[in-house]
Amino acid sequence: MDINEKSYAYGAAKSSIREIAAYGAARKAQIGAENVFDFSLGNPSVPAPDAVRKSILKNAELPPAQLHGYTPASGMPAAREAVANSLNRRFGTSYDPGDLYLTCGAAAAISITLNAIVNPGDEVIVIAPYFPEYRVWIETAGATCVEVMADATTFQADTEAVAKAITPKTKAVMIDSPNNPVGAVYTRQTLEALAQVLTTRGEELGHDIYLISDEPYREITYGAEVPWVPSLYDRTIVCYSYSKSLSLPGERIGWVLVPNTNPRHDELVYAVAGAGRKLGFVCAPALFQRVLIDCVDEPTNVEAYATNRKALTDGLSKLGYEYIEPDGAFYLWVKSLEPDAEAFFNKAKALEILPVPSNSFGCTGWVRLGYCVSLDTIQNSMPAWEKLRNQYK
Ligand code: PLP
Repeated sequence: MDINEKSYAYGAAKSSIREIAAYGAARKAQIGAENVFDFSLGNPSVPAPDAVRKSILKNAELPPAQLHGYTPASGMPAAREAVANSLNRRFGTSYDPGDLYLTCGAAAAISITLNAIVNPGDEVIVIAPYFPEYRVWIETAGATCVEVMADATTFQADTEAVAKAITPKTKAVMIDSPNNPVGAVYTRQTLEALAQVLTTRGEELGHDIYLISDEPYREITYGAEVPWVPSLYDRTIVCYSYSKSLSLPGERIGWVLVPNTNPRHDELVYAVAGAGRKLGFVCAPALFQRVLIDCVDEPTNVEAYATNRKALTDGLSKLGYEYIEPDGAFYLWVKSLEPDAEAFFNKAKALEILPVPSNSFGCTGWVRLGYCVSLDTIQNSMPAWEKLRNQYK
Protein backbone atom coordinates (compact mmCIF):
# COMPACT_ATOMS: atom_id res chain seq x y z
CA MET A 1 0.00 0.00 0.00
CA ASP A 2 1.45 3.37 -0.98
CA ILE A 3 -0.64 5.51 1.35
CA ASN A 4 -0.10 5.88 5.08
CA GLU A 5 -1.22 2.58 6.58
CA LYS A 6 -1.81 3.90 10.08
CA SER A 7 -3.98 6.76 8.82
CA TYR A 8 -5.86 4.31 6.63
CA ALA A 9 -6.45 2.06 9.65
CA TYR A 10 -7.74 4.95 11.82
CA GLY A 11 -10.07 6.03 9.01
CA ALA A 12 -11.30 2.53 8.26
CA ALA A 13 -11.85 1.71 11.95
CA LYS A 14 -14.02 4.83 12.44
CA SER A 15 -15.24 6.10 15.79
CA SER A 16 -17.90 3.84 17.25
CA ILE A 17 -19.57 6.85 18.92
CA ARG A 18 -19.98 8.53 15.55
CA GLU A 19 -21.12 5.27 13.93
CA ILE A 20 -23.88 4.90 16.53
CA ALA A 21 -24.85 8.56 16.11
CA ALA A 22 -25.00 8.11 12.32
CA TYR A 23 -27.20 5.04 12.80
CA GLY A 24 -29.39 7.10 15.15
CA ALA A 25 -29.79 9.87 12.57
CA ALA A 26 -30.73 7.36 9.85
CA ARG A 27 -33.15 5.57 12.16
CA LYS A 28 -34.82 8.88 13.14
CA ALA A 29 -35.37 9.62 9.44
CA GLN A 30 -36.99 6.18 9.07
CA ILE A 31 -39.28 5.97 12.09
CA GLY A 32 -39.48 9.54 13.41
CA ALA A 33 -37.12 11.34 15.78
CA GLU A 34 -39.50 10.92 18.71
CA ASN A 35 -39.22 7.13 18.45
CA VAL A 36 -35.43 6.92 18.76
CA PHE A 37 -33.72 7.48 22.12
CA ASP A 38 -30.28 8.52 21.06
CA PHE A 39 -27.86 8.95 23.98
CA SER A 40 -24.72 8.49 21.88
CA LEU A 41 -23.17 11.90 21.23
CA GLY A 42 -21.78 14.54 23.55
CA ASN A 43 -23.40 17.32 21.55
CA PRO A 44 -24.74 19.97 23.99
CA SER A 45 -28.53 20.22 24.06
CA VAL A 46 -28.40 23.64 25.72
CA PRO A 47 -28.34 26.54 23.22
CA ALA A 48 -25.29 28.79 23.10
CA PRO A 49 -25.80 31.95 25.21
CA ASP A 50 -27.55 34.84 23.47
CA ALA A 51 -24.41 36.90 24.01
CA VAL A 52 -22.71 34.64 21.42
CA ARG A 53 -25.36 35.46 18.80
CA LYS A 54 -25.03 39.18 19.57
CA SER A 55 -21.25 39.02 19.32
CA ILE A 56 -21.43 37.22 15.96
CA LEU A 57 -23.83 39.84 14.60
CA LYS A 58 -21.68 42.70 15.89
CA ASN A 59 -18.52 41.20 14.42
CA ALA A 60 -20.22 40.49 11.09
CA GLU A 61 -20.31 44.27 10.57
CA LEU A 62 -16.51 44.51 10.54
CA PRO A 63 -14.82 45.16 7.19
CA PRO A 64 -14.52 41.69 5.55
CA ALA A 65 -10.76 41.85 5.16
CA GLN A 66 -10.47 42.44 8.89
CA LEU A 67 -13.15 39.93 9.88
CA HIS A 68 -11.92 37.05 7.75
CA GLY A 69 -8.20 37.77 7.77
CA TYR A 70 -5.51 35.57 9.28
CA THR A 71 -4.74 36.15 12.92
CA PRO A 72 -1.35 35.35 14.46
CA ALA A 73 -0.77 31.56 14.54
CA SER A 74 -1.38 31.44 18.31
CA GLY A 75 -4.46 33.68 18.13
CA MET A 76 -5.32 37.39 18.40
CA PRO A 77 -3.54 39.04 21.33
CA ALA A 78 -6.86 40.55 22.49
CA ALA A 79 -8.55 37.13 22.53
CA ARG A 80 -5.68 35.54 24.43
CA GLU A 81 -5.70 38.47 26.82
CA ALA A 82 -9.43 38.03 27.44
CA VAL A 83 -8.89 34.35 28.27
CA ALA A 84 -5.84 35.03 30.47
CA ASN A 85 -7.70 37.76 32.38
CA SER A 86 -10.67 35.45 32.90
CA LEU A 87 -8.45 32.67 34.28
CA ASN A 88 -6.63 35.15 36.51
CA ARG A 89 -9.90 36.44 37.95
CA ARG A 90 -11.21 32.94 38.60
CA PHE A 91 -8.12 31.15 39.85
CA GLY A 92 -6.01 33.96 41.36
CA THR A 93 -3.24 33.35 38.79
CA SER A 94 -1.11 35.80 36.82
CA TYR A 95 -1.14 34.34 33.32
CA ASP A 96 -0.13 36.33 30.31
CA PRO A 97 -1.59 36.17 26.76
CA GLY A 98 1.72 34.59 25.72
CA ASP A 99 0.96 31.54 27.88
CA LEU A 100 -2.00 30.67 25.64
CA TYR A 101 -2.26 29.14 22.18
CA LEU A 102 -5.77 29.22 20.69
CA THR A 103 -6.90 26.07 18.91
CA CYS A 104 -9.71 24.35 17.04
CA GLY A 105 -11.27 22.93 20.21
CA ALA A 106 -9.80 20.55 22.75
CA ALA A 107 -8.95 18.00 20.05
CA ALA A 108 -6.34 20.29 18.52
CA ALA A 109 -5.23 21.51 21.95
CA ILE A 110 -4.46 17.94 23.05
CA SER A 111 -2.76 16.98 19.78
CA ILE A 112 -0.60 20.09 19.95
CA THR A 113 0.32 19.42 23.59
CA LEU A 114 1.25 15.81 22.89
CA ASN A 115 3.31 16.79 19.85
CA ALA A 116 5.00 19.48 21.93
CA ILE A 117 6.27 17.07 24.59
CA VAL A 118 6.60 13.48 23.37
CA ASN A 119 9.47 11.84 21.53
CA PRO A 120 9.20 8.52 19.67
CA GLY A 121 8.86 5.64 22.10
CA ASP A 122 7.59 7.74 25.02
CA GLU A 123 4.60 6.54 27.00
CA VAL A 124 1.51 8.54 27.94
CA ILE A 125 -0.76 7.18 30.67
CA VAL A 126 -4.54 7.53 30.38
CA ILE A 127 -7.05 6.67 33.08
CA ALA A 128 -9.54 4.08 31.77
CA PRO A 129 -12.37 4.36 30.95
CA TYR A 130 -11.22 7.23 28.72
CA PHE A 131 -12.27 9.32 25.73
CA PRO A 132 -11.36 7.04 22.77
CA GLU A 133 -9.67 9.72 20.67
CA TYR A 134 -6.93 9.99 23.31
CA ARG A 135 -5.36 6.81 21.98
CA VAL A 136 -5.41 8.09 18.39
CA TRP A 137 -3.83 11.42 19.35
CA ILE A 138 -1.18 9.80 21.57
CA GLU A 139 -0.21 7.24 18.94
CA THR A 140 -0.08 9.75 16.11
CA ALA A 141 2.20 11.93 18.23
CA GLY A 142 4.58 8.94 18.26
CA ALA A 143 3.97 7.72 21.82
CA THR A 144 2.45 4.58 23.31
CA CYS A 145 -0.89 4.82 25.08
CA VAL A 146 -0.76 3.08 28.48
CA GLU A 147 -4.13 2.41 30.10
CA VAL A 148 -4.48 2.47 33.89
CA MET A 149 -7.89 1.51 35.26
CA ALA A 150 -9.64 4.03 37.49
CA ASP A 151 -10.75 2.93 40.96
CA ALA A 152 -13.45 0.33 40.33
CA THR A 153 -16.01 1.85 42.70
CA THR A 154 -15.43 5.62 42.69
CA PHE A 155 -13.89 5.95 39.21
CA GLN A 156 -11.41 8.43 40.68
CA ALA A 157 -7.88 8.10 39.25
CA ASP A 158 -6.18 5.20 41.05
CA THR A 159 -2.96 6.95 41.98
CA GLU A 160 -1.23 3.81 43.27
CA ALA A 161 -1.91 2.09 39.97
CA VAL A 162 -0.56 5.15 38.13
CA ALA A 163 2.61 4.99 40.25
CA LYS A 164 3.08 1.34 39.28
CA ALA A 165 2.53 2.05 35.58
CA ILE A 166 5.20 4.78 35.41
CA THR A 167 8.37 3.66 33.61
CA PRO A 168 11.50 5.50 32.47
CA LYS A 169 9.60 6.14 29.22
CA THR A 170 6.61 7.86 30.84
CA LYS A 171 6.36 11.41 29.53
CA ALA A 172 2.87 12.38 30.67
CA VAL A 173 -0.35 11.40 32.36
CA MET A 174 -3.58 12.62 30.78
CA ILE A 175 -6.70 13.26 32.85
CA ASP A 176 -10.11 14.75 32.18
CA SER A 177 -12.14 15.89 35.12
CA PRO A 178 -15.13 16.30 35.06
CA ASN A 179 -14.78 13.05 33.25
CA ASN A 180 -16.05 11.70 29.97
CA PRO A 181 -17.37 8.94 30.00
CA VAL A 182 -18.07 8.43 33.73
CA GLY A 183 -19.01 11.90 35.04
CA ALA A 184 -16.54 11.60 37.93
CA VAL A 185 -14.92 14.80 39.20
CA TYR A 186 -11.48 14.21 40.66
CA THR A 187 -11.32 15.43 44.23
CA ARG A 188 -8.59 17.69 45.56
CA GLN A 189 -7.34 14.68 47.51
CA THR A 190 -7.03 12.56 44.34
CA LEU A 191 -5.25 15.34 42.47
CA GLU A 192 -2.87 16.00 45.36
CA ALA A 193 -2.05 12.29 45.54
CA LEU A 194 -1.49 12.21 41.78
CA ALA A 195 0.76 15.28 41.99
CA GLN A 196 2.77 13.58 44.74
CA VAL A 197 3.21 10.43 42.66
CA LEU A 198 4.32 12.38 39.58
CA THR A 199 6.73 14.52 41.61
CA THR A 200 8.30 11.56 43.42
CA ARG A 201 8.55 9.29 40.39
CA GLY A 202 9.78 12.16 38.19
CA GLU A 203 12.55 12.90 40.69
CA GLU A 204 13.51 9.23 40.92
CA LEU A 205 13.64 8.95 37.14
CA GLY A 206 15.39 12.28 36.72
CA HIS A 207 12.90 13.71 34.22
CA ASP A 208 9.67 15.70 34.21
CA ILE A 209 6.39 13.85 34.01
CA TYR A 210 3.77 16.21 32.61
CA LEU A 211 0.15 16.22 33.60
CA ILE A 212 -2.14 17.04 30.68
CA SER A 213 -5.41 18.27 32.14
CA ASP A 214 -8.15 18.09 29.50
CA GLU A 215 -10.98 20.24 30.84
CA PRO A 216 -13.82 20.75 28.34
CA TYR A 217 -16.38 19.97 31.08
CA ARG A 218 -14.86 22.19 33.81
CA GLU A 219 -17.98 24.35 34.14
CA ILE A 220 -20.49 21.49 34.06
CA THR A 221 -20.75 20.24 37.63
CA TYR A 222 -23.51 19.59 40.13
CA GLY A 223 -21.90 21.13 43.19
CA ALA A 224 -18.51 19.38 43.18
CA GLU A 225 -15.31 21.41 43.47
CA VAL A 226 -13.11 21.29 40.35
CA PRO A 227 -9.66 22.26 41.65
CA TRP A 228 -7.36 24.30 39.40
CA VAL A 229 -4.84 21.59 38.56
CA PRO A 230 -1.74 23.78 37.87
CA SER A 231 -1.99 25.08 41.44
CA LEU A 232 -1.51 21.49 42.67
CA TYR A 233 1.14 20.33 40.19
CA ASP A 234 3.41 22.80 38.43
CA ARG A 235 4.18 20.55 35.45
CA THR A 236 0.56 20.72 34.28
CA ILE A 237 -0.50 21.81 30.80
CA VAL A 238 -4.21 22.64 30.47
CA CYS A 239 -6.28 21.91 27.35
CA TYR A 240 -9.69 23.53 27.12
CA SER A 241 -12.52 24.17 24.72
CA TYR A 242 -15.77 26.10 24.57
CA SER A 243 -17.49 23.16 22.87
CA LYS A 244 -19.42 22.23 26.00
CA SER A 245 -19.32 25.29 28.29
CA LEU A 246 -20.65 27.67 25.61
CA SER A 247 -22.29 24.95 23.48
CA LEU A 248 -20.07 25.71 20.48
CA PRO A 249 -18.75 22.28 19.43
CA GLY A 250 -19.04 22.93 15.71
CA GLU A 251 -17.24 26.25 15.85
CA ARG A 252 -13.94 24.72 16.95
CA ILE A 253 -12.50 27.08 19.53
CA GLY A 254 -10.35 26.27 22.56
CA TRP A 255 -6.81 26.69 23.85
CA VAL A 256 -3.63 25.25 25.33
CA LEU A 257 -2.30 26.94 28.46
CA VAL A 258 1.32 26.57 29.52
CA PRO A 259 1.08 28.01 33.04
CA ASN A 260 3.85 30.47 33.91
CA THR A 261 4.47 28.38 37.04
CA ASN A 262 5.71 25.46 34.89
CA PRO A 263 9.49 25.27 35.42
CA ARG A 264 10.02 24.66 31.68
CA HIS A 265 7.51 27.32 30.65
CA ASP A 266 9.60 29.16 28.05
CA GLU A 267 10.71 26.02 26.22
CA LEU A 268 7.19 24.62 26.34
CA VAL A 269 5.66 27.78 24.86
CA TYR A 270 8.00 27.42 21.87
CA ALA A 271 7.31 23.68 21.63
CA VAL A 272 3.55 24.32 21.63
CA ALA A 273 3.93 26.93 18.88
CA GLY A 274 6.17 24.52 16.96
CA ALA A 275 3.72 21.65 17.32
CA GLY A 276 0.91 23.91 16.07
CA ARG A 277 3.07 24.82 13.09
CA LYS A 278 4.10 21.22 12.45
CA LEU A 279 0.49 20.01 12.49
CA GLY A 280 -0.82 22.99 10.52
CA PHE A 281 -3.00 23.91 13.51
CA VAL A 282 -2.52 27.67 13.25
CA CYS A 283 -4.94 30.60 13.47
CA ALA A 284 -8.03 29.18 15.19
CA PRO A 285 -11.33 30.40 13.64
CA ALA A 286 -11.04 34.19 13.64
CA LEU A 287 -14.73 34.98 14.19
CA PHE A 288 -14.81 32.80 17.29
CA GLN A 289 -11.61 34.28 18.62
CA ARG A 290 -13.53 37.58 18.50
CA VAL A 291 -16.55 35.97 20.15
CA LEU A 292 -14.30 34.93 23.04
CA ILE A 293 -13.37 38.57 23.65
CA ASP A 294 -17.07 39.29 24.26
CA CYS A 295 -18.22 36.01 25.82
CA VAL A 296 -15.36 34.41 27.73
CA ASP A 297 -17.11 34.92 31.06
CA GLU A 298 -20.62 33.92 29.95
CA PRO A 299 -22.00 31.46 32.52
CA THR A 300 -22.75 27.88 31.46
CA ASN A 301 -26.38 26.83 31.71
CA VAL A 302 -25.91 23.78 33.93
CA GLU A 303 -29.54 23.75 35.08
CA ALA A 304 -30.86 21.95 32.02
CA TYR A 305 -28.27 19.19 32.45
CA ALA A 306 -29.05 18.97 36.18
CA THR A 307 -32.74 18.47 35.34
CA ASN A 308 -31.89 15.78 32.78
CA ARG A 309 -29.52 14.07 35.18
CA LYS A 310 -32.22 13.86 37.81
CA ALA A 311 -34.86 12.59 35.38
CA LEU A 312 -32.53 9.93 34.00
CA THR A 313 -31.12 8.71 37.32
CA ASP A 314 -34.56 8.72 39.01
CA GLY A 315 -36.10 6.81 36.10
CA LEU A 316 -33.33 4.23 35.79
CA SER A 317 -32.96 3.63 39.51
CA LYS A 318 -36.70 2.97 39.79
CA LEU A 319 -36.24 0.29 37.14
CA GLY A 320 -33.34 -1.24 39.08
CA TYR A 321 -30.43 -0.10 36.91
CA GLU A 322 -27.10 0.55 38.60
CA TYR A 323 -25.00 3.56 37.65
CA ILE A 324 -22.27 5.87 38.90
CA GLU A 325 -23.78 9.08 40.29
CA PRO A 326 -22.24 11.74 38.02
CA ASP A 327 -20.69 14.79 39.73
CA GLY A 328 -20.00 16.54 36.44
CA ALA A 329 -20.14 16.52 32.62
CA PHE A 330 -23.34 15.18 31.01
CA TYR A 331 -22.76 11.46 30.88
CA LEU A 332 -24.24 8.63 32.92
CA TRP A 333 -22.20 5.44 33.33
CA VAL A 334 -24.70 2.61 33.58
CA LYS A 335 -23.91 -0.99 34.46
CA SER A 336 -24.66 -3.34 31.59
CA LEU A 337 -27.17 -6.06 32.52
CA GLU A 338 -24.79 -8.68 31.15
CA PRO A 339 -20.99 -8.82 31.19
CA ASP A 340 -20.79 -8.22 27.43
CA ALA A 341 -21.63 -4.53 26.96
CA GLU A 342 -21.82 -4.96 23.16
CA ALA A 343 -24.50 -7.63 23.52
CA PHE A 344 -26.40 -5.39 25.95
CA PHE A 345 -26.06 -2.49 23.50
CA ASN A 346 -27.52 -4.61 20.70
CA LYS A 347 -30.56 -5.46 22.83
CA ALA A 348 -30.98 -1.76 23.69
CA LYS A 349 -30.62 -0.86 20.01
CA ALA A 350 -33.41 -3.25 19.09
CA LEU A 351 -35.63 -1.20 21.43
CA GLU A 352 -34.46 2.06 19.79
CA ILE A 353 -32.24 3.04 22.75
CA LEU A 354 -28.76 4.10 21.68
CA PRO A 355 -26.11 4.24 24.43
CA VAL A 356 -22.37 3.69 23.74
CA PRO A 357 -20.91 0.38 24.96
CA SER A 358 -17.97 0.75 27.34
CA ASN A 359 -15.61 -1.24 25.10
CA SER A 360 -15.14 2.03 23.18
CA PHE A 361 -13.73 3.58 26.35
CA GLY A 362 -11.29 0.84 27.28
CA CYS A 363 -13.30 -1.36 29.66
CA THR A 364 -16.12 -3.88 29.67
CA GLY A 365 -19.46 -4.17 31.40
CA TRP A 366 -20.91 -0.64 31.15
CA VAL A 367 -22.62 1.73 28.74
CA ARG A 368 -22.40 5.53 28.53
CA LEU A 369 -25.54 7.62 28.19
CA GLY A 370 -25.08 11.22 27.07
CA TYR A 371 -27.90 13.13 28.74
CA CYS A 372 -27.28 16.24 26.66
CA VAL A 373 -30.62 15.48 25.00
CA SER A 374 -34.14 16.83 25.42
CA LEU A 375 -35.97 16.05 28.66
CA ASP A 376 -38.67 14.45 26.47
CA THR A 377 -36.16 11.96 25.09
CA ILE A 378 -35.27 10.89 28.61
CA GLN A 379 -38.86 10.67 29.84
CA ASN A 380 -40.17 8.95 26.71
CA SER A 381 -37.36 6.40 26.77
CA MET A 382 -38.41 4.92 30.13
CA PRO A 383 -40.86 2.29 28.77
CA ALA A 384 -38.09 1.03 26.46
CA TRP A 385 -35.65 0.86 29.38
CA GLU A 386 -38.27 -1.11 31.29
CA LYS A 387 -38.68 -3.58 28.41
CA LEU A 388 -34.91 -3.95 28.25
CA ARG A 389 -34.75 -4.62 31.97
CA ASN A 390 -37.53 -7.22 31.70
CA GLN A 391 -35.53 -9.17 29.14
CA TYR A 392 -33.08 -10.01 31.91
CA LYS A 393 -35.67 -11.18 34.47
N1 PLP B 1 -11.84 15.69 25.48
C1 PLP B 1 -12.96 15.14 25.92
C2 PLP B 1 -12.94 14.44 27.22
C3 PLP B 1 -14.14 15.22 25.16
O1 PLP B 1 -15.26 14.66 25.64
C4 PLP B 1 -14.11 15.89 23.92
C5 PLP B 1 -15.32 15.97 23.08
O2 PLP B 1 -16.34 15.41 23.33
C6 PLP B 1 -12.92 16.43 23.50
C7 PLP B 1 -11.79 16.33 24.29
C8 PLP B 1 -12.82 17.14 22.20
O3 PLP B 1 -13.38 18.42 22.34
P1 PLP B 1 -13.52 19.42 21.12
O4 PLP B 1 -14.81 19.12 20.46
O5 PLP B 1 -13.52 20.77 21.76
O6 PLP B 1 -12.37 19.22 20.23
